[in-house]
Amino acid sequence: MRLVLLGPPGAGKGTQATRLVAHLGIPQLSTGDMLREAAATRSPAGLRAAEIMSRGELVPDDVVVAVVSSRIDRSDASSGFILDGFPRTLAQAAELDRELAFRDAKLDAVLELKVDEDALLNRIRGRAAEAAMRGESVRNDDNPEAFKTRLDVYRRQTAPVSEYYRARGLLKVVAGLEPIDAVTANISNELASVPSYPGRGAGR
Ligand code: AMP
Repeated sequence: MRLVLLGPPGAGKGTQATRLVAHLGIPQLSTGDMLREAAATRSPAGLRAAEIMSRGELVPDDVVVAVVSSRIDRSDASSGFILDGFPRTLAQAAELDRELAFRDAKLDAVLELKVDEDALLNRIRGRAAEAAMRGESVRNDDNPEAFKTRLDVYRRQTAPVSEYYRARGLLKVVAGLEPIDAVTANISNELASVPSYPGRGAGR
């Protein structure tokens, strides 16, 4: 099963992706994680990406598409994957279609976690404060200024991606601000109508 998880920063995509990984047995492909790993190598390309990410802006489409294209060819992604944080622009969505078509593959569904922006700002402040209390390092784009940019970028560049998938009949929208278990249950309900969903026909 090939899924895309859409939603603004702080909507809970990472949490729900982890649960989907456990349930579906397919990997979560987070472009944010892949780019952070590239940045940690301190290669010139990684450092360029890190600088863009710290401002909350988007890394160029060709860079991200190349990263995703090689990642989906790894053997663990052969029977499916959950794309988390990609595509984030209409150009990336079109490129993903092309990359999948080359491989005779297509997406099964796109899940969007919908959340209110004020609630998101509170959530991100809480996330940073909790991580600091646990003595963990806080992502350097989880500060109010970079977060505001990430939210603006989402509104301008990523929100149209939902419409792209709605027009193709792939979009499933789930309210993201409910308790975590309720969101997971709603996602399962939405996916139950997808032909390749493993829980289908099992009385759900
Ligand atoms: P995330 O972990 O998904 O919140 O991503 C963190 C940052 O990585 C984003 O704010 C962007 O700077 C960059 N990034 C992640 N995915 C993409 C993408 N699909 N296109 C461009 N930049 C991305």
